[in-house]
Amino acid sequence: MDYFPAFLRLEGKPCLLVGGGAVAARKARLLLSAGAELTVVAPALNDEMTAQVHNGRVRHERRRFRDSDTGGQWLVVSATGDPAVERRVSNAAERAGIFCNAVDDREHCSFITPAIIDRSPVMVAVSSGGSAPVLARRIRTAIESQLSFGLGDLAQLAGRWRQRVGEVLPDFARRLRFWEWVFDGPVAAAVTAGDLPRAERLLATELDTELDTELDDTRESSGLRGEAWLVGAGPGDPGLLTLKALQVMQRADVILHDRLVSEQVLDLARRDAERISVGKAPGCPAISQEEINALLLRLVSEGKRVCRLKGGDPFVFGRGGEEAEALEAAGLPFGIVPGITAAAGCAAAAGIPLTHRDAAQSLVLLTAHGKDSVDTLDWPSLARDRQTLAVYMGVRRFEALMTRLIAHGRAADTPIAIIERGTTPGQRVVRGRLGQLKMLADAHRVRSPAILLIGDVAAMGVRRTAEPAAAVSPESAIQRLASG
Ligand code: SAH
Repeated sequence: MDYFPAFLRLEGKPCLLVGGGAVAARKARLLLSAGAELTVVAPALNDEMTAQVHNGRVRHERRRFRDSDTGGQWLVVSATGDPAVERRVSNAAERAGIFCNAVDDREHCSFITPAIIDRSPVMVAVSSGGSAPVLARRIRTAIESQLSFGLGDLAQLAGRWRQRVGEVLPDFARRLRFWEWVFDGPVAAAVTAGDLPRAERLLATELDTELDTELDDTRESSGLRGEAWLVGAGPGDPGLLTLKALQVMQRADVILHDRLVSEQVLDLARRDAERISVGKAPGCPAISQEEINALLLRLVSEGKRVCRLKGGDPFVFGRGGEEAEALEAAGLPFGIVPGITAAAGCAAAAGIPLTHRDAAQSLVLLTAHGKDSVDTLDWPSLARDRQTLAVYMGVRRFEALMTRLIAHGRAADTPIAIIERGTTPGQRVVRGRLGQLKMLADAHRVRSPAILLIGDVAAMGVRRTAEPAAAVSPESAIQRLASG
């Protein structure tokens, strides 16, 4: 982080503006709207600034800047467009120990101003740290269009009720849910419709209901009902999360995640959500599925909203089925959000079609995890031509896979592709023939997580020439977040 983000309270604080042109006038407007007591030093003022002086809102010193001008000021903005003056102001501010912003002159700034969306009291500030102001402004435009103009009224309403709600609902989780109801439900709708009295009444009534529930502990509080979501996080690239997965992650109290779920994906969860890793890391004592189920049930029973986040899709070799059964048996509410499974994500990332009219009419997802699984697989059917095999958790079984498939008739020169850490920045793709599988995996030191694709499609492969826009476009990133 190059800059510390903060909002300054300037009400009644002496601030200095150097310069009297259009840029300075723009800065004056902002400083005045924050209530600053503004002094402008400039040999001449433009019309707008002259009017501000006449209104008595700005004190004007008709002359050039002097170092002593910084005395008694809280901060300085220099908007003269003259680098020599900006440097001088900046040096004087430095010596006086106050913050200085030289407009469009980052070198002489000890603070920079963000692009803002003003729905006071809600304020969104966007900064690229001075590196890409155009990008920051584009992000602002994208956010601007997402935020209703009633937002400020809604925030003010919340501000008026904040203390009372805190008294009635001392429990954090219940309070959080109450506010979510306010911001997502009929109160927000009434504010958007411009009917503030109705919004106020709705909020008051709901809070009364909450109070009754609080006093009568035999009544079930709707606010504290826990629930679980079995969510697919995709194979690693956070851009491959579904919108719904993102929404659930941003509402969850607890994120119960597998080891395979990437850090970048976890970073998109609600900041203050508790994170529990139930992953099986090599060399560490494994948490059994029964223990995971028990933990899940306990958290939901405590009233937590739990996001059970799994790599890929929860129902593809993810044991999501067992967790869903446990939740159902316990009578606890739960939902399921599918994810992009490794076969689909990795194939796309490597440019390999999983089916192809000329090469493969069917696709089999299989796992060769554990010795039993190798013995119980239907080898004659797996060895058939014109089908693609996507092998999960197979790295330690490559030799058995190779020999059995060939023994049951699959040609040794059938193309294969091993995709390691697919869709992540560390992705590797190793291509070859079935007969070389073990040798290739050893030579390239293939490690888990890796998926193995077997079949003629593995020799195909289109080179992607465009990155999906979502990876770079601020608009789409914001739309993703805004829907959360
Ligand atoms: N539910 C997951 C699969 C879990 S089993 C899904 O739908 O994708 C774990 C196996 O998935 C790994 O051993 C590996 O074979 C595969 N896998 C998961 N993420 C992967 C990735 N980013 N790259 C390659 N293989 C991956």
